[in-house]
Amino acid sequence: MSNPRILIIGAGYGGMITTVNLAKELSPDDADITLVNKHNYHYQTTWLHEAAAGTIHHDRTRMLIKNVINTNRVHFVQDSVVKIDKDNKKVILKNGELSYDYLVVGLGFESNTFGIKGLSEHAFSIRSVNTARKIREHIEYKFASYNNDPDAKDSDLTLVVGGAGLSGVEFLGELVDRIPGLCREYDIDQNKVKIIDVEGMPMVLPPFERDLAEYAQRYLESKGVIFKLGTFIKEATPDGVLVQKKDAEKMEEIKAGTVVWTGGVKASHIPADSGFKTNRGKIPVTDDLRAPDDDHVFAVGDVAVVFPAEGKRPYPPTAQIAVQEGELVARNLKHLIKGEPTEKFVYKKRGTVASLGNHQGIGVVYDKKLKGKPAAAMKKVIDDRYLLELGGVGLMLRKGKLNFL
Ligand code: FAD
Ligand code: NAD
Repeated sequence: MSNPRILIIGAGYGGMITTVNLAKELSPDDADITLVNKHNYHYQTTWLHEAAAGTIHHDRTRMLIKNVINTNRVHFVQDSVVKIDKDNKKVILKNGELSYDYLVVGLGFESNTFGIKGLSEHAFSIRSVNTARKIREHIEYKFASYNNDPDAKDSDLTLVVGGAGLSGVEFLGELVDRIPGLCREYDIDQNKVKIIDVEGMPMVLPPFERDLAEYAQRYLESKGVIFKLGTFIKEATPDGVLVQKKDAEKMEEIKAGTVVWTGGVKASHIPADSGFKTNRGKIPVTDDLRAPDDDHVFAVGDVAVVFPAEGKRPYPPTAQIAVQEGELVARNLKHLIKGEPTEKFVYKKRGTVASLGNHQGIGVVYDKKLKGKPAAAMKKVIDDRYLLELGGVGLMLRKGKLNFL
């Protein structure tokens, strides 16, 4: 009898951890393992705001998949998934198709523009190495043009960030680190640069501990960030954004050379378009992380949604939960192949840490609050811990951050 075929689609946190652990858990006689990803590299999504601001080079965030997985054990296919044909247990790719006995869906997130007019056309979003690179290059171009282009305007040096969730606040932290250097490089008076954050809620980091969120706001304000709270982005235009304060009658225009939307994420459209049962586009996985309507399909990371035993709100989509899901899916696939019962997913929430540039941060780790440098250091520990789990000490030393403390 031929080996069961395990196919993993998407090499994000969930897909990579599933693949690396499967390769360790199952011998070549147990199963064939194939990983599909649209690029030949895996990237640290959690560092993309740094690449977007230009505080790190985008190559720091990515690593060739062949340097992380054992390609003698795992067959890697670089291609884009177009659709999952679950009735025939096939995945349709741009350049072919692959059959499976077990599928792991780890296609991650897309930016959610909530249908706001002009956002897709006129605003950037931080969602991949390529989009981060475009943002950095666009900002640099605006600064480089300012003293050379006769049509340059002061508003070309205004940057608007839409949303003050964790992505928005972390991006602002990088911008305030980056702008002084850019001003020096392009001979620009820093007083001409404006960084404006527009957040619909009356506070920054709405779900976060208040004192920590206020610390982040005060720190960013001390570096020149202007917050427009309780204000919604209503439209993006070639010249900036139209915003409206809650209860205000009129919209206000903010002219800006750069608009970066960090107002929310949604799951990859592929599971819903392929006919899976979804909840707001995500697969509401069973206890052992399978699709409720297909027990040959597992889902990990931002395409999956897990509800806590008590409470109606699902766990937020994070790398932290994606990694834990990947670990369990690898074990559960081994159990299924060995004819053993599967295990239930129990999320271990270790906390949340947000960076505010390289040397500042806020966070809660195992119920302990952190602010300032200790939080910034903890963020680097968390990032390096992931690299250690993914590719061992070698990868952590090559790509990790602690060397740079
Ligand atoms: P993703 O990381 O989204 O990766 C999906 C992979 O699938 C990618 O390699 C992509 O190229 C590939 N793919 C997508 N579509 C296709 C297709 N059609 N065909 C082939 N391949 C495809 N979470 C934290 O826990 N801590 C943090 O500090 C943190 N910081 C963040 C900072 C930013 C700026 C952002 C945007 C998010 C951050 N998050 C953080 C959230 C975290 O990054 C996501 O929850 C996490 O990346 C989800 O992982 P994933 O495995 O679902 O897939
Ligand atoms: P989010 O949904 O958490 O935050 C989006 C913010 O945009 C919200 O505060 C919302 O009120 C605001 N917003 C929405 N529409 C708006 C509008 N029209 N005008 C103005 N403001 C508007 O999205 P995110 O920050 O990208 O985070 C996505 C996920 O990634 C979350 O689960 C988060 O926990 C995770 N994440 C984690 C970290 C970390 O752990 N350090 C960092 C980044 C992201």
